[in-house]
Amino acid sequence: MFAAVLKHGLETAHGVEITHCASLVALRNAVEMDGGEFSVAVLDLNLPDAPNCEALDYVISHNIAAIVFTGLFNNSTREDILARNVVDCVIKSQPDSISHVISAVDRALTNASTNVLLVDSDPVSREALFCLLRQQQFHVTDVGQGAEALHLMDAGDSYDLVIADVELSDMSAYTLLTQIRQRHGEDALSVVALSATGDRQQAARFLQSGGTEFIQKPFLVEEFNSRVFQVASTQKRIQALHGIAACDYLTDIYNRRYFFQYGPRLVEQCLRRGETTSIAILDIDHFKRLNDTYGHEVGDLVLKAVAKRLRALVGEEHLLARLGGEEFGVLFNGLGLAAANAFCETLRLDLAGEKITADDEELSVTVSIGLATIEGLETFENYLNAADQFLYMAKYDGRNRIVSELTLLKSMAS
Ligand code: GH3
Ligand code: MG
Ligand code: MG
Repeated sequence: MFAAVLKHGLETAHGVEITHCASLVALRNAVEMDGGEFSVAVLDLNLPDAPNCEALDYVISHNIAAIVFTGLFNNSTREDILARNVVDCVIKSQPDSISHVISAVDRALTNASTNVLLVDSDPVSREALFCLLRQQQFHVTDVGQGAEALHLMDAGDSYDLVIADVELSDMSAYTLLTQIRQRHGEDALSVVALSATGDRQQAARFLQSGGTEFIQKPFLVEEFNSRVFQVASTQKRIQALHGIAACDYLTDIYNRRYFFQYGPRLVEQCLRRGETTSIAILDIDHFKRLNDTYGHEVGDLVLKAVAKRLRALVGEEHLLARLGGEEFGVLFNGLGLAAANAFCETLRLDLAGEKITADDEELSVTVSIGLATIEGLETFENYLNAADQFLYMAKYDGRNRIVSELTLLKSMAS
C-alpha cells in the first residue's frame, strides 16, 4: 500500500521515474540492469529476503542516496540509522510520513545538483561539515582559506553555494562575501556563514551585507540540513528564472541582455588572470536578400541552424549570444588576438561550408566577422563598438571575411 501511494506521490511531485522492488533480489536485478542509473532509493529496512538492513547496505555501497522509510523501530534506532550514510529516516506510523518522504527525495535530488564550496580554516570542523554535506548529497569542494576559495572561483570553477566560517585564518566571511558579490553579483550564488561565537551582531552584519543565511553553532543536524537545503533550493529556482530570462526565444542560445550582463564579468575575470581576450561580432551576409527570396520563415530556420552550429563550435568555454536580428556575439574566454582570429576563421569556414536544409531548399550562408582585442579595462560598449567598426570594414571589403587589427596589419604588409 505504502509503495503504491509513494510511487504515485513521487511521480506527481517530482516528475521522476520510479522502479518498485519488493525484495533484495529485485533491487539487485534493477540496479545491475540499469547500471547505476538510480539517483535515490527509498527503502524499508526489512524485506522478506533481507531482514537485517541488507538492502540499505547494498544501496549505500552502490553510491545511491538512501532514504529509509520503515515502521519497525523507535527513535533511538532512528538515530543509529541516521548515523549511517542516509539522507533521512522516516517512520511509517508518523502522520504525514508520505509527504515527509516526498520532500526528502526533493532534498536529495536538489542537493545532488548543487555545487558547494566549503571554506573553514579549522580542519576538524571542516571535516565534520564536509561529511554532513556529502551525506545530504551535495557536491562539495573544501578549502581552508578565503583566498583559496576566491582563487578557485577566479579560475572558473562554478559554485551554487559558498558555506564559510565567519572567522577564516586569512579573512573574515564579510570580506569573502564582499569579494564574491563584487565578482559574481547579487544572485549568481548564495553565501552562508557559520559562527560559534554566539554574537548576534555578526549575523545581522553578515545578512545586511548581502549574505544569504547565517547559522549559529552548535546546531542540530536536522536544522543545518534544512537551512542549507532551503538556500540551495531557492538558489536553484533563481538560476532557473535567470536561465529563462537569458535565453533568446528563437535560437535558444543566450540573448543580448545576458551578453551585456555576463560579458563584463567574464572580461574582468580574464583581466584579473592577466590574460588578453577578444570579442567578435558575426553578421550573416545578405540576409535580407535571403528573407526576400525564401520568406521570413525560411529566414528563421536559417537563423536557428546557424545558432545551433555556432553553439556546437563555440562550446561552453566562451560566451555566445544572439545580439539581435542576424547578428551574433562571441566573447572569448582568454583568447588573445591571434588565437581568436584563428578560431573565427574556423567559424567562418565551417558556416560557409554548411548546407542548411529549410523548406525543401538547400541553402548556404556566409558571415562577416569583426574581431577586437580586449587588453585594458574599458566599458563593455567600447569593446563591442570596436568589433562593430571592424565588422563594418569586413562588409565594405566584400563580406565573408574577418577584419581585426591582425588582418589589417597583414594586408598592410602585403
Ligand atoms: P549585410 O550583408 O550588409 O549584413 O546585409 P543584410 O541583408 O544581412 O543586412 P540588413 O541589416 O540590411 O538586413 C538584416 C535583415 O535581417 C533584415 C531583417 O528583415 C532580417 N531579420 C532580422 N531579424 C530577423 C528574424 O528574427 N527573422 C528573420 N527571418 N529575419 C530577420
Ligand atoms: Mg547581415
Ligand atoms: Mg545585421
